[in-house]
Amino acid sequence: MNALRAAIACGLAFASLSLGDEAPKLDEVVVELRDRGLEDDLAYELLRSLTVEVGHRLAGSPGDRAAVAWAVRRLEALGFDEVRTEPVTVPHWVRGTALGRILEPYPQETVLLALGGSVGTPEGGITAEVVGVPDLEALAELPEQRVRGKIVFINRPTERTRTGRGYGEAGVVRRNGPAAAAAKGALAVLIRSIGTGNQRFAHTGATRYQDEVPKIPAAALAIPDADILAAQLDSGKKVRFHLELGSHYRPDAQSANVIAEVRGRERPDEIVLLGAHLDSWDVGTGAHDDGAGCATVMSAARLIAELPTAPRRTVRVVLFANEEFGLSGAREYAEVHAGALPSHQLALESDLGGDWVWAFATRVDPRALAEVERIAGLIAPLGIEWLGNEARGGADLIPMRAADVPMADLRQDAIRYFDYHHTIDDTFDKIDPEALAQNVAAYAAVAYWAAETPVSFVPAPAREPPPGR
Ligand code: ZN
Ligand code: ZN
Repeated sequence: MNALRAAIACGLAFASLSLGDEAPKLDEVVVELRDRGLEDDLAYELLRSLTVEVGHRLAGSPGDRAAVAWAVRRLEALGFDEVRTEPVTVPHWVRGTALGRILEPYPQETVLLALGGSVGTPEGGITAEVVGVPDLEALAELPEQRVRGKIVFINRPTERTRTGRGYGEAGVVRRNGPAAAAAKGALAVLIRSIGTGNQRFAHTGATRYQDEVPKIPAAALAIPDADILAAQLDSGKKVRFHLELGSHYRPDAQSANVIAEVRGRERPDEIVLLGAHLDSWDVGTGAHDDGAGCATVMSAARLIAELPTAPRRTVRVVLFANEEFGLSGAREYAEVHAGALPSHQLALESDLGGDWVWAFATRVDPRALAEVERIAGLIAPLGIEWLGNEARGGADLIPMRAADVPMADLRQDAIRYFDYHHTIDDTFDKIDPEALAQNVAAYAAVAYWAAETPVSFVPAPAREPPPGR
């Protein structure tokens, strides 16, 4: 038993449910779920199963289809009231081979990966002089004649932060760098991997082309290789690079959002949504991103499904299709359920890895904040601090956020996360089982509380916008 479990077990009497005709007391059930969550080993077992039996699962790939089948099978075995899939059309991008070689002044092979969605290089690859810039601002200032016909190298480091802020700031290079360089006539783009650590593997992730400019091949160099290329540029000598990418698109494919529900006993049409994304990049096994999130929400909802009395509202697990390469599942969900979004009481997503949750934030009707303080107090013994009413929501909640669905964040410590994120190294051995159980405890407690409380979190339609929004 770890220190956290011991402290909670000693400090708080185990809540016993008095069942009769009365609904169980909210606080007592929350405490019970929280403490059962800390003992949970289902999430760890599910994550082992997903990463071993399915492995990586990029949208449109055979792994994607296998993951949907896996999730349906596992959820059906967990005793939910309903398990179903909702079809989602997804893009099908294939990585192909990648080869990068410094030709001059000091020849070296490099380690790199195509950015997600990159076009391939022409037959025989691209060989060109490299022009290096530290960031997108410097690229914007370069005159077009310095860029035209060259390979642009953007060497922007990612700051290691607990919140993931460093990734947010550096990620713009991956998303927008190729289009920005193409607009100035570049032939291809290399970026320093968006990630922390100095391991010699590259971090992939989606890039975004713009319709008005040519689509040019784009790859991320492993961080040590970005250092080598930068040092060769610093020599002042002309640097030439050879890049070959076999990336290409196949026709769109069918995938699905996988949904499981614990039906509410009083207001089944009001929804507390527990989300994560089932897809991953096609490297590693998507253990932290986002297998950990899937395993967490499946296990948290299973704890609620096992209660003798269902909560007032419905708890709905949604394992979204294709978050990584365009939020296909999230957009489809918001569209198909558009009419029901006003009766979504709360949406929560887990998509920042499986390390310890340290912070809680909400984005609910401010009149419900006294109720929020109650749950914040109940999860404080998990080491989770209350940050206020400015939750951001995960990527899959973006379309719901636009529809003003109330949301909450349970934020994981991201100090290690971007060492593994979108790499071959995002594998099950990096998961801490006690941290994963603490995630289950936190998600189960908050989801049950939101589903059971008599207080609505949904802002009244005619109400003034709350301050700061
Ligand atoms: Zn993710
Ligand atoms: Zn990701």
